[in-house]
Amino acid sequence: MGSVKEYKCLNCKAGLEFDPPSQHWKCHYCFSEFTKEQIDAVYKKAEDSLDKEEPELNSYHCTSCGAELIADDTTAATFCLYCKNPTIIKSRFSGKFKPKNLIPFKLTKAQAQDLYKKWIGKRIFAPSEFKQIAEIEKITGIYAPFWLFDTRAEGMIDGEGTRVKSWTQGKYRYTQTTYYRVLRKGNALYKKVPVDASKKLDDKYMHMIEPYDYSALTDFSIQYMSGFMAEKYDVEAGEAKGVMKERVEKYIEDKLWTTVSGYSSYNVRNKQVMLMDTTEDYCMLPVYLLINKYKGKEHVFIVNGQTGKVVGDTPISFKKQLLFGLAVYTAVWLVAVFGGAIFV
Ligand SMILES: [Zn+2]
Ligand SMILES: [Zn+2]
Repeated sequence: MGSVKEYKCLNCKAGLEFDPPSQHWKCHYCFSEFTKEQIDAVYKKAEDSLDKEEPELNSYHCTSCGAELIADDTTAATFCLYCKNPTIIKSRFSGKFKPKNLIPFKLTKAQAQDLYKKWIGKRIFAPSEFKQIAEIEKITGIYAPFWLFDTRAEGMIDGEGTRVKSWTQGKYRYTQTTYYRVLRKGNALYKKVPVDASKKLDDKYMHMIEPYDYSALTDFSIQYMSGFMAEKYDVEAGEAKGVMKERVEKYIEDKLWTTVSGYSSYNVRNKQVMLMDTTEDYCMLPVYLLINKYKGKEHVFIVNGQTGKVVGDTPISFKKQLLFGLAVYTAVWLVAVFGGAIFV
């Protein structure tokens, strides 16, 4: 079973987990704490072998208790269902699936849970099931696969601007409209444009939890996966490029628009954007995720695992809304009935 690996405590051999506040690895059994250098010293060879493709097996077993791992095709790091040991499927981080960089988790699971409690607390019409402790416990830290693109964009917008002047002379009112051809060209370098590389995670939400602070990007090491779930990409770079292109086109067009001023109106007739020197890197970005199922529909809650930015949706419980309506009605009715009597 060489293909599933996890990092064991250098003192007691229990599974190690990454600890976001200290950015060290901690053992929950003997409470030892290790730095990256200490773990590298023991496990460095395992890390180097990721450059070579590792074979995919039909099944994987926990290195701690031997139980078979229940994992989707794209799951790369998970927990053993039986002994809760963090387990990593090495083949899903090797060869073309070896990420270049990652941003380590900054937020702890407890912090993500607090954010959820605050967020759901404000949603008075959310179903009560969403507020139960068991539900909050399900929040999971996941390294989500992303493509980060660098590209140079050359853009052009060409259109017609108008300037309108009006004045009164005698009993006539004159309006003069002057037409101008307004052409703007420019180029810009865009770095680290992120595109969600997992089909499982909804692009819409993944873009809403941006931005990440990319100055925290660090070389990928499988050690960071310890204690988290991870997915490998199932959206190829070529496919992701289309999404990136749309985003960059919008950025540069908006930028060129801001340079057009002093006109009464401006209509773009023609526009063109060309991307050059495009490169991509495969990266892992930290998110906390909670998916609630309610009446057959999935509802998503996501926290940016670095910045704590929260995004999500909740269904509206009609029962709760009705009760709220009744409560308001009753209160109003009580005030209407007894309002005058209070001051007697
Ligand atoms: Zn230990
Ligand atoms: Zn196990």
